[in-house]
Amino acid sequence: MTSVKEAHATIRRNIKKTGFEKIHLKQTSGRTLAKNLLACFPQPRFDNSAMDGFAVRAEDTLEADNNFPAKLFLKGVIAAGETPTFEILAGECCQIMTGAKIPIGANAVVKVEDTSGFKTKDVVEIFSEAKVGKNIRYEGEEISNGDTLLDAGTLLGPGELGIAASFGYNEIEVYRKPKISIFATGDELVEPGLRLEDGQIYNSNLHIFEELSQKMGADIINAEILKDDKGSLITFLSDSLKNSHLIVSSGGISMGKHDYVRDALLELGVKEHFWRVAQKPGGPFFFGTKKDVMIFGLPGNPVSSFICFMEYVWPSCELISGRNPMKKIIAVLDKSFPRDGFKHRFLTGVVREHQGELIVSPSKKIGSHMLSSFLGSNAIIEAPPGKSSLGPGAPVVVSLLPWCDLY
Ligand code: AMP
Ligand code: MG
Repeated sequence: MTSVKEAHATIRRNIKKTGFEKIHLKQTSGRTLAKNLLACFPQPRFDNSAMDGFAVRAEDTLEADNNFPAKLFLKGVIAAGETPTFEILAGECCQIMTGAKIPIGANAVVKVEDTSGFKTKDVVEIFSEAKVGKNIRYEGEEISNGDTLLDAGTLLGPGELGIAASFGYNEIEVYRKPKISIFATGDELVEPGLRLEDGQIYNSNLHIFEELSQKMGADIINAEILKDDKGSLITFLSDSLKNSHLIVSSGGISMGKHDYVRDALLELGVKEHFWRVAQKPGGPFFFGTKKDVMIFGLPGNPVSSFICFMEYVWPSCELISGRNPMKKIIAVLDKSFPRDGFKHRFLTGVVREHQGELIVSPSKKIGSHMLSSFLGSNAIIEAPPGKSSLGPGAPVVVSLLPWCDLY
């Protein structure tokens, strides 16, 4: 049997990035930047005013105050977006608005509140002394021309989109979205909305996979419920192998008489890297590749497939789309955690912050069929094999579910 560590290492060795595409800035939210984005001009691009007020020569305002205001001749007005058409000479000033270009000759801005105001005509009174540079945002003070704005691999969100826009980029090169094919197999499976016959159950896993695929940023290209029938599996898989980056299945991969997923994959020329991992839940877990397609055969028990998806499929999707996988964290148990003598153990749980420490409580429902163990949980807790349970106070590795908050 493959260990969890070997399983991760094998999967990492088979990561093939999805490649790049150029898309419009508006479509880039949640995508990963493919190449470093550089500043194509300095920011600010020109010296400009940080205030609505008057552009002055600082030396003309020496010792100005309410009793002895500096009196400066009003030369004109510069609004944001305008090019100044005049210079400020000794004894002169002009009205200037926030973001407007500083005219030649001026070296400070006095905010309007410290002056006789915008209604003043001809001679403006300045009630405070301005130091050189006061209220001026200088060219390049934030970002120099040629600086790296965003590194390749950055996940694009509001701040990143804003920066790209502020440098005029309307097309951005990003990693292609991974294409995923998902299916659930089982003769007993019925879709919600239909009537259950005796012995049947509703399919939950494909709905979980669909939701997870969307959340991790993949495009679902095929999603089906299949019978435990090799022919249907082969038809679905041979089509999915043609155009997917990832194929993920639930069920039919264990030792059951009707478990045909592995046979079908092998028949289609998929290279098996491992089948069965020393972990609980999720032991009968298959990983294979064909060319650049990664295939994950997950066991049908809902908790097993959910946990395997989060542990193996999600980080693979992040890696092939150029991102770094989410970091795991360490938290302290407040209840005991049932370790296994030979298998790596995963359990859902709740992690919360308490007086600066991360505390985690494993779910009481530990069966791999007990999907309700995910309800209220915000994390997956894990522990390597060990002789006895871990007691309260022991540190454990925890993966916060990416769509959940810390309590
Ligand atoms: P299998 O891995 O096919 O042996 O299935 C293991 C268990 O998971 C069985 O009890 C199945 O009925 C159940 N199961 C398999 N697929 C699904 C599914 N899509 N939704 C809910 N339960 C499932
Ligand atoms: Mg089955």
